[in-house]
Amino acid sequence: METRQRIVAGNWKLNGTRAFARELAAAVAAGEVPDDEVTVVICPSACHLADVAEALRGSTVRLGAQNAADQPGGAFTGEVSASMLADYGVSHVIVGHSERRAMYGDTDESVAARVDAVQSAGLVPILCVGETLEERDAGRVDEVVGRQLDAVSARVGVSGIAGLVVAYEPVWAIGTGRTATPEQAQAVHSVIRSRLAGLHADVAAALPILYGGSMKADNAAELMAMPDIDGGLIGGASLDADAFLAIARAAAVRG
Ligand code: PEP
Repeated sequence: METRQRIVAGNWKLNGTRAFARELAAAVAAGEVPDDEVTVVICPSACHLADVAEALRGSTVRLGAQNAADQPGGAFTGEVSASMLADYGVSHVIVGHSERRAMYGDTDESVAARVDAVQSAGLVPILCVGETLEERDAGRVDEVVGRQLDAVSARVGVSGIAGLVVAYEPVWAIGTGRTATPEQAQAVHSVIRSRLAGLHADVAAALPILYGGSMKADNAAELMAMPDIDGGLIGGASLDADAFLAIARAAAVRG
């Protein structure tokens, strides 16, 4: 029986004030989620990292970020480097979120470069992959997700893949209230694991693969009961401490 790490990560996106971020982080930190069962990560906006780091002090909840530069430093106006994030106590960084791919020009290659930069700073990338509805309807899910993964493995190799968390996020399910069924999600998670098994079977077997896309307290348990779903990347529901903690607890009791 595999003992993959279970992870529930909250992506707060472009939301909140400093006070909101502090309060929400403190409420998540106060929630009782068995930390030997599930790693809980919250990813505020970069400018709330210091407040959230302070609110999480003494807690097992981990601090995450939503993006990182593909360069270690220099003349890159507006970027935040992975080592700057590490300096704030960040442990995980979301990379290649579909909103960044769709709206900010992230490509498979630049996402791979960000993954590399994040790992070079000693942090864990949460690599997002997933298809649009058009791609799904055209029967191209495996091809799209495979291409997104291949760009990263070509850049960071097996040792890089071994240090990753992957999040399968069908674009049509993000922020839409339309969740993939457990069977739809499991099918793609299994494709992801098989593709990476082609690189290294043990690395693929140990890789945490999260589902993201309108995961809520009332559908989390059935999604995370699937054999290849090891947790969740949560957008909207992560802005509510009770809803987010309920999802984290559902991950902790997965059979
Ligand atoms: C996300 O943006 O990563 C996400 C999963 O959002 P939501 O949970 O709101 O669909």
